[in-house]
Amino acid sequence: MLNPAVTKYFIGVTMLWIGLAESSVVRGANVRYVQLYGQQYVYLRDVAAYYGMQYAVKDKEIILFSKYSRLVFTVDKKYCTVNGTKVTLLFPAVKYNWRRCISSMDFLKTVDPILRHWALWKHRLARIMLDPGHGGHDKGASGKRFHEKTITLALARKVANLLIRAGYEVSLTRNSDRFIDLRQRADAARQIKADIFISIHANKADNSSVTGSESFCMTPAGANSTYSRQASGKIFPGNRYDVNNTALAYWIQRSLTAAAQNSDRGLKHARFMVLKEAPCPAALIEVGFLSNPGEEKQLGEEAYQWEIARGIAEGIQRYHYQLKRRE
Ligand SMILES: [Zn+2]
Repeated sequence: MLNPAVTKYFIGVTMLWIGLAESSVVRGANVRYVQLYGQQYVYLRDVAAYYGMQYAVKDKEIILFSKYSRLVFTVDKKYCTVNGTKVTLLFPAVKYNWRRCISSMDFLKTVDPILRHWALWKHRLARIMLDPGHGGHDKGASGKRFHEKTITLALARKVANLLIRAGYEVSLTRNSDRFIDLRQRADAARQIKADIFISIHANKADNSSVTGSESFCMTPAGANSTYSRQASGKIFPGNRYDVNNTALAYWIQRSLTAAAQNSDRGLKHARFMVLKEAPCPAALIEVGFLSNPGEEKQLGEEAYQWEIARGIAEGIQRYHYQLKRRE
């Protein structure tokens, strides 16, 4: 039995909000939700039905699968995998009595934008603003041989080259070693009426064995960022694109780790200034760790930079493909 303090609702409002079920698999699927720990959660069994997927439980893992997709959640963990790519959740998956649940916010803003292209705002994608992190006196992270500002510019130029060849119009927030403050970067995207904004960074950790890439999107209001314990209810300009931000960061992360063949640290959430103020869907990519000697060496190599750039450019094109899908 449900705890009397817990309110249980059946469908209704949730279904309407999800996007009026333009994809045929959704019709007739009831997604029930339940209020737990002050947060609204949905039953994963219902989420599976909603997508026409099978549902299986194996110890702490919950697996949703079909011919096309496989999602793996773990009870009490704040991440899942979507077709093998790691995706951080906004709230941990939970087990309530015998039911396994994820937050409604994760259903609508993390899972649905990746699985269902109809969930996305179908916008034009012609003009891209690339933002090489740091510059000038702001060197960013430093390894033994390279500064982050140098690597990010080299990468952004290569990504631009590939995207221009693919027919996009591309601008860079900086194309030389100069300082620009964070707010100006978002302003630059607004000025050129960019359709998407991609910020490129390299990482640093105290533990020099840490390697791999991760892609950030703006944290939705009411949730905490991946590396923060504080939720913020404040809505920033970048939150207008929550759903598209997730898809953009996911496709970049997926393509980037495939192209670079490095470790997948996943899609994550952060309220970085450039994401908060972004005037369009945006992502911030941490391509790898300058604090790891091996990865630093790779990041300095032309050939590896082209692999990274190819991963980022392909991720953008895969996101674009989702926008163009009409079936
Ligand atoms: Zn940086």
